[in-house]
Amino acid sequence: MDFQDAFPTDEACYVYLCLVKWPNGFICPNCQYNKCYVMKDHTRRCAQCRKSFSVTAGTIFQDLHIPLRIIFQAMWYVVCQKQGVSASGLQKILGVGSYHTTWKWLHKLRRAMVRPGRDSLSGEVEVDEIIIGGVHAGKRGRGAEGKELVLAAVEDKGGSMGRLRLKQISDASGSKIEKALLEMVVPGSKIRTDGWRGYFGLEEKGYNHEVLVHSEQSPGEDPTPLIDKVATLLKRWLLGTHQGRQEPSYLQYYLDEFTFRFNRRNSRSRGMLFLRLVQQALQVDPITV
Ligand SMILES: [Zn+2]
Repeated sequence: MDFQDAFPTDEACYVYLCLVKWPNGFICPNCQYNKCYVMKDHTRRCAQCRKSFSVTAGTIFQDLHIPLRIIFQAMWYVVCQKQGVSASGLQKILGVGSYHTTWKWLHKLRRAMVRPGRDSLSGEVEVDEIIIGGVHAGKRGRGAEGKELVLAAVEDKGGSMGRLRLKQISDASGSKIEKALLEMVVPGSKIRTDGWRGYFGLEEKGYNHEVLVHSEQSPGEDPTPLIDKVATLLKRWLLGTHQGRQEPSYLQYYLDEFTFRFNRRNSRSRGMLFLRLVQQALQVDPITV
């Protein structure tokens, strides 16, 4: 499907938002009447009580200073490009004058990529830290300079990967690891890690903890092979699409975008992914980036 065909005008984008918000047709939030007029400013005016409603109010689309169609086109690229798009790349594609505008919108969209109230991981879960940035391998216990630490958890579905969660952490101490894991993985799940001492308190937090260590007999065997694959893909994406220029204070949002795409990697329908992103964008409160 071509963007131009799907959304030829600004109003077509508003119609799409209305369909997501009112799947069974317009229902007046004031009097529950089911007919409305479409006004020039894209608001909907109830045909009975005459109140006007903006479909973008209270969402990240509220108070737009550029046409909604530009934002839809940005979302289209974010969803349809396998590797996503950088702010400068998107600026060229959209012909938007300001780099800051595209940068800001990409960040707003990343906030919409985490579904409010999403489920935590469960079952068998492999966990390890990933070090982002820097040339040399960093110290593990404390964040080394110029490096960022990410705690990664991925479901092990019989050797293949299920859902992924990524959380930026300031250091790999037990308390930071446990706090992050409680947000990502349901207690009672089986967690597999290497022998780092930061994981020693997991049983106390209600997890079934399995420790795999590099064995002397088979030194080539990796305790966390799934996370290693994730780390390779994540670093390649940050270096490729974003040239490794992501700001540390915004790293979590890049991680959220990576996770959104990763967890939907087997989805055949890009149109469905686009719908998911719009649905979540309507659920997320207005954000100042
Ligand atoms: Zn009404």
